[in-house]
Amino acid sequence: MRAEVVVVGGGVMGTSIAMHAAPRLDPIEEPLVLVERAALASGSSGRSGAILRQHYADRVVARMARDSLREYATFEQRTGRSVGFRNSGVMTLAGPAQPEWLARLRSTVDLLQEIGVDSRLVEAAEIRKLIPGIDIDDGVLGAWEAGGGFVDPRKTVEEFAALARSHGAVTRLGVELQSIDIQAGAVVGVETSEGRIDTQRVVLVAGPWSHELLRRCGIDLPLRTVRPEQHFLDMPRELKNPHEVADPILDLALGAEELGRKIETEEPAARLEREAMERLASRIESAHPVLIDLEYGYYSRCEPDLLRTRIGHIDYDSDAEVPNPDQLDEDVGSAMGEWAREVLAKRMPAYAQEKDAHSEAAWYTLTPDSQAMIGPVPGVQGLLLVSGFSGHGFKLAPSVGRGVTEMLFGERVTAFDPDFFDPSRFGSAVDWGQGAFGL
Ligand SMILES: Cc1cc2nc3c(=O)[nH]c(=O)nc-3n(C[C@H](O)[C@H](O)[C@H](O)COP(=O)(O)OP(=O)(O)OC[C@H]3O[C@@H](n4cnc5c(N)ncnc54)[C@H](O)[C@@H]3O)c2cc1C
Repeated sequence: MRAEVVVVGGGVMGTSIAMHAAPRLDPIEEPLVLVERAALASGSSGRSGAILRQHYADRVVARMARDSLREYATFEQRTGRSVGFRNSGVMTLAGPAQPEWLARLRSTVDLLQEIGVDSRLVEAAEIRKLIPGIDIDDGVLGAWEAGGGFVDPRKTVEEFAALARSHGAVTRLGVELQSIDIQAGAVVGVETSEGRIDTQRVVLVAGPWSHELLRRCGIDLPLRTVRPEQHFLDMPRELKNPHEVADPILDLALGAEELGRKIETEEPAARLEREAMERLASRIESAHPVLIDLEYGYYSRCEPDLLRTRIGHIDYDSDAEVPNPDQLDEDVGSAMGEWAREVLAKRMPAYAQEKDAHSEAAWYTLTPDSQAMIGPVPGVQGLLLVSGFSGHGFKLAPSVGRGVTEMLFGERVTAFDPDFFDPSRFGSAVDWGQGAFGL
């Protein structure tokens, strides 16, 4: 088999690249082939919070978050396919005892306003109005992004892949890249679990597995994987996010509680009923906007389709190293759930009474400066690396897809500043600083 481009990895980045690049290739003469060794979204993407915030201190990343949000928010209108976009709003909070964060919140909001993002500073009284049920002391400062929200991570990856296929991309699931054939410093093909593909261009976008795949080519870049934990609590039913527009269809059809019960007890045969339910579930409002709470050190977002709320740590400094991403320890101890309930209930007391819903471990692929590596791998012609999103890449995937497509076609990259993400920027002196999602 021959491919014009081989994309290795079916997460949000691989499928976004395929979706953006495929329309520019001839599917018969010069196909794009995406190989995914398991199922779509089986890496970090499937476990992602998929929060879409634009609150970034770096101008380059803030612009990408802004542009990508536009793509996510208009995706259904443009393509007829839903990625489950919800405009819940995003509130980033800093406390009165955090002068450095307060100053950073102010300067970031200035930067965002400069680049046309709808973000503004809000004080305690206004925060209480925007988020009913919140417990806020005077002196807390918020950065409010009315346009932010979240998408459904699995739906997003599935729909990006479906759109790529509709433009002629081939997605080969259950096919593992085993090695990249490099001759005289240039890519000439790849070996997979299902045979060879001749190609001169490979995009390695294998998330936590990228580091090992590069090492097999004799390349060692500073990427490492850690294990964040997430906890989920039931979403309080008495809270309503006034920012998210309610859909009257829900009121006409089922109460949300009844809906939750039916989803739990349905038989597989009731496919039509399930689909109708899913459509209704997608209309349950979130209980409150996304919270990024620097004072208590967590982030939280409602998952209204699943009637639950996700809570995770704001930084990953205490997350365990994962030397082999195939051996992720899936057992999350009770301490995570206790911490999650405690911090979220301090801010949103309604959570004190809610039941535990679930806990989950996952992978973050880190770089020393908490920003991704996107671009040519030094010393290998035809090999692009897209990895190391350091726990905050989902929101950037549309811009990444556009920019990598520009790179593949040898064009000037307009979707982002390629120097900022250059995989060779670290040189040999690598300093692994502390990480907090580029906030
Ligand atoms: C718990 C959690 C919460 C997050 N929350 C947010 C958030 O709220 N907002 C945000 O913007 N970002 C968030 N992120 C980060 C974001 O999800 C990631 O940056 C993004 O999903 C990375 O996507 P990816 O496609 O690069 O990697 P992945 O999704 O890991 O995809 C890599 C794929 O490559 C495949 N693969 C590996 N090896 C091979 C091989 N040899 N051959 C073929 N295929 C292979 C894997 O099976 C996998 O499917 C979160 C991440 C996690 C883990």
